[in-house]
Amino acid sequence: MKTRVATLAREKGTPISRSASRKSPAHERAHLEIGAPNSNSLLRQWNGPLTADLTLHPGDFGLGKVPARLRPDATTRLICGYCSTGCSLDIHLQSGVAVNLTPTADYPVNLGMACPKGWEALTPLAAPDRATTPLLRNPKTGKLEPTDWDEAMQVFTLKFKALMDQHGPESVAFLSTGQICTEEMAFAGALWKFGMGALHGDSNTRQCMATSHVAYKQSFGFDAPPYTYADFEESDALVFIGSNLCIAHPILWQRVLRNKKSPEIIVIDPRKTETAMNATQHLAITPKSDITLLYGVANLLIQKGWINREFIERSTTGFVEFAEFVR
Ligand code: SF4
Repeated sequence: MKTRVATLAREKGTPISRSASRKSPAHERAHLEIGAPNSNSLLRQWNGPLTADLTLHPGDFGLGKVPARLRPDATTRLICGYCSTGCSLDIHLQSGVAVNLTPTADYPVNLGMACPKGWEALTPLAAPDRATTPLLRNPKTGKLEPTDWDEAMQVFTLKFKALMDQHGPESVAFLSTGQICTEEMAFAGALWKFGMGALHGDSNTRQCMATSHVAYKQSFGFDAPPYTYADFEESDALVFIGSNLCIAHPILWQRVLRNKKSPEIIVIDPRKTETAMNATQHLAITPKSDITLLYGVANLLIQKGWINREFIERSTTGFVEFAEFVR
């Protein structure tokens, strides 16, 4: 009713009277409650079950803001182990326990980014079936039983030492995995070779990369790809052979997306992968015909004279034989 009076008064150009403009006690109370930042009202809840989680505090260590319960007292750095891209992650620690992570902002590989796999790097730490205790088989029952690390190490080293004493240091070997972190791998290698005097150790990373490493060595003289991640951002043309970069190494695909030159993206793959779907050209060759295609391309380049003869003479050997081979 009072609101109506005020409206009528304004419509007629009449100054609003003091009594007409005064708000009801309830209205004033609601107004006060809305304005007070720490108390809840029917209209707005300032505090609730998620308040503590959503309120951010400075995280220190250059981390920006983090929820109070995840505020770290230290950080450490690790390389994500899910794929071979090598993204760096800053791990947030509370009393030595990893509680959160952020991708390292100034690391040249991932430039502050991580893919969903990297963001989940700490999840295995909370897995209920994670192996955290050494197990030793009880000779009487034949069952595995928990033991402490000192005893586990004694049994492990002495039993292998006995084998080596009997059959020589080359008689035993360990096979590790690229899925353990660098520090663990370094420890396993040092223990095995320098601590126990064994000779042979390898990992599945060499198993799966052996053929490409040999090819790199034969082609370029060293066992690594001859390009850098920065090339993804600067090349005019990118050729992916059998690589589903979008899914397998998402951070490298992000680097491709940062390329401002609208590059030609050619995917050679029998499968219509996500990367193929995002390519400018998809060459869906039949399986196992990639080497035939590459020889054919080499032959075409030589026949058309689209090669740098000066470079070939200066930097390669066996070119005449190669040209004959692919003809
Ligand atoms: S691309 Fe993803 S899985 Fe691979 S290293 Fe980076 S964050 Fe880890």
